[in-house]
Amino acid sequence: MNPKKISTDKENLIIDWDNENQVKISFRQLRKECPCATCLAEREYQSKDYIRIYNQDQIMLKNIEKVGNYALKLTWKDGHATGIYEFLYLKRLTSL
Ligand SMILES: [Zn+2]
Repeated sequence: MNPKKISTDKENLIIDWDNENQVKISFRQLRKECPCATCLAEREYQSKDYIRIYNQDQIMLKNIEKVGNYALKLTWKDGHATGIYEFLYLKRLTSL
């Protein structure tokens, strides 16, 4: 399954999948679930009830780039840009 269209509103990434499903994922959730090695390691350290506080720049998308035909690379306003979000991963985030 591939995205047909990718757009954003003020707080969400909006994906139109090619099966006509549209999903919205909040920037905050995307940042929280950043799949890069640094963020994964950080999450592993913390207890389950730890709530991370983000500043505005950390949950504001600066750029969205397609990686091959399997993922999106998100660049955040604070400069964090190592998260490669595979389509499968994005699908999993929205089917919870
Ligand atoms: Zn990250």
